[in-house]
Amino acid sequence: MIEKKGLLIVISGPSGAGKGTVCTEIVSKKSNIKLSISATTRSPREGEVEGVNYFFKTKSEFEEMVNKGEFLEHAKIYDNYYGTPLKAISDELEKGRDIILEIEMQGAMQIKKAYPDAVFIFMLPPSLEELKNRITGRGTETEEQIKKRFSSAFNEIKLVSDYDYFIFNNTVEQSVEDIHNIINAEKCKVSRYKEEVIKKFELEEKEC
Ligand code: 5GP
Repeated sequence: MIEKKGLLIVISGPSGAGKGTVCTEIVSKKSNIKLSISATTRSPREGEVEGVNYFFKTKSEFEEMVNKGEFLEHAKIYDNYYGTPLKAISDELEKGRDIILEIEMQGAMQIKKAYPDAVFIFMLPPSLEELKNRITGRGTETEEQIKKRFSSAFNEIKLVSDYDYFIFNNTVEQSVEDIHNIINAEKCKVSRYKEEVIKKFELEEKEC
């Protein structure tokens, strides 16, 4: 067989689409898929753990990381900064592991420039009504924050056209399966492995 490289998978979608739950479920089931842990200046929500959900930084710590070139991408979202630490990503990819980045669209487009081989998946809610229920129901944001997040949802959804795949997050199980199917299909793409495939049979032909 041929050795398959690690895949960089970017998942975006409007706030409340359920990206976090789906991504956590995916990595809990497969040891070869890792979830990138971002740095943020946002305060931890109840139950969030440093180094598990995010690396929580002050604004000046975050700026220092930006200046040192420690981010693969970073963006300002709803008054806070978020960024993907570069080192962890390159280490995992080198080990042949797949890595999922659950990030918003500005950051995703920065990745598209740096890693054109990455796979871009857009997660949609079943409907806007359902999105509103999910944002309100999780009870982690103030009324003001909920309004802000919901009012930008439709504009964000229009950015689906910059992505390779879309999935409707009806149930976590179905979305996990959809993402696994996408990953498997991407790993069978001729364009990713044509040289390796030909080389394998070239060597075998010599030995036959
Ligand atoms: P939350 O505050 O709800 O955890 O995240 C808000 C938004 O920031 C979500 O859309 C999430 O995908 C995005 N996000 C989380 N980490 C990063 C990151 O490292 N870079 C970018 N660009 N967006 C991120």
